[in-house]
Amino acid sequence: MLVLGVESSCDETSVAVVKDGKEVLSCFTNTQIKIHEKFGGVVPEVASRHHVYQVSMVFEEALKAAGVTPEEIDLVAVTEGPGLIGSLLVGVNAAKTFSMMYHKPLIGVHHLAGHIYANAIEHEMKFPCIALLVSGGNTELIYMKKHFSFEILGQTLDDAVGEAYDKVARVVGLPYPGGPHVDRLAHEGKDTYHLPRVYLEDGSYNFSFSGLKSAVINLAHNANQRGEEINVNDLCASFQDSVTEVLVRKTLALAKEKGVENIIVAGGVSANKGLKERFMAEAKGFNVCIPSIKYCTDNAAMIAAAGYYQYQEYPGLADLRLNADASLELEDKYPLKEE
Ligand code: ATP
Ligand code: MG
Ligand code: FE
Repeated sequence: MLVLGVESSCDETSVAVVKDGKEVLSCFTNTQIKIHEKFGGVVPEVASRHHVYQVSMVFEEALKAAGVTPEEIDLVAVTEGPGLIGSLLVGVNAAKTFSMMYHKPLIGVHHLAGHIYANAIEHEMKFPCIALLVSGGNTELIYMKKHFSFEILGQTLDDAVGEAYDKVARVVGLPYPGGPHVDRLAHEGKDTYHLPRVYLEDGSYNFSFSGLKSAVINLAHNANQRGEEINVNDLCASFQDSVTEVLVRKTLALAKEKGVENIIVAGGVSANKGLKERFMAEAKGFNVCIPSIKYCTDNAAMIAAAGYYQYQEYPGLADLRLNADASLELEDKYPLKEE
């Protein structure tokens, strides 16, 4: 089955052709990072305009690179939400137009299901599993009994991990998006600042990163006022150690409580080298899957892969009333089924 995936929830316009949820025939992504860099973050209105400029070209390039004609596509899967409404609407309308022109079935996919199913491209997803989803806007621990069964058992009470990375990066003068830069510098420094680790109450699978973020900001400002130098590499290493320790230990604790050995990591922050290294070091006896870097951040191959499995578990098709939903919830989109 050939699935055409479409993703435009934030600042990447991406279209992919994926065969049977696994084989990526093409994934063409136009990123706007250079455009938003000077603002230090994504400007929604600017993002939606650039999606409009790029979307036709991205469809054409993806089909051309895959060597397939529109007629050969079996299913169109588009990110329905959550995300920036103006950005989402461009992808949803383009997908609807394609579906109508070529008489192809259409489904709306949840962006976070997409991140999770990035793992299906290169690995065999095994169930039951715990998914640690760490991205620019989300930090969640999800229990999956089987394909497309999502039970959220923990989430951030304030900042998402990616958001904390980007803010810390900004405070120490690194470009947007800051996550990859903090990761790189962390590998050149040591945990000398010993920042707090926030575990919340015993047995909680929720997260909180705003205290950690404030601790970094205060440290940098206080040093600045006293005219002292901050060791940026050490500060990045200290921040990354605090974040990855909490993420990995909570994930393992939940996996143990649930008695599952399969763990999958997903979302932009799953590209983090420190996180991967800590899982490798601490998750002995667990089977941990992490996508390769190109499938960690936003891309349409993950939406096509998710679409392939969604179509089997929730076969309902979208009609041309499909609308973008900026605050779509995973558990509303895929209600848990009674056993
Ligand atoms: P969401 O998926 O929650 O809607 P998003 O789509 O904006 O948010 P993603 O594309 O999944 O986010 O991820 C982007 C985030 O990942 C950014 O915050 C970025 O800094 C972070 N990130 C990317 N690479 C790394 C890395 N190596 N280390 C830490 N963070 C990283
Ligand atoms: Mg992005
Ligand atoms: Fe994302």
